Amino acid sequence: MSAGEDAVGARVPGLRCTGCGHPTAFWAPCCPVCRGEVKPAAFGPRGTVWSSTVVRVPVAGLEPPYGLAYVDLDDGPRVLVRTIAPSPPPGAQVLITSVEGDSVQGRQV
Ligand SMILES: [Zn+2]
Repeated sequence: MSAGEDAVGARVPGLRCTGCGHPTAFWAPCCPVCRGEVKPAAFGPRGTVWSSTVVRVPVAGLEPPYGLAYVDLDDGPRVLVRTIAPSPPPGAQVLITSVEGDSVQGRQV
């Protein structure tokens, strides 16, 4: 990752309800809150940690230890973010640094 990418951050794709504005990071045929129409949206790249932990067991393709944090994206949904261990604590500000498929990575800022 270049310094430029790190400073700008990455956006998490998702959906936003055209009726009530509810954001979601998962595909849904309609708004899970009001059943209104949803449109593609992008969220982040910054957010606040809601909860976090450190994973110390090996998982295919991932070298432990690494952090996992639920992050409330600014003006967006709560998403699971992989971080470098130790995990940022609840309340910490996080910058999303990359999004590849379902894998979202970030770091404390
Ligand atoms: Zn809605």
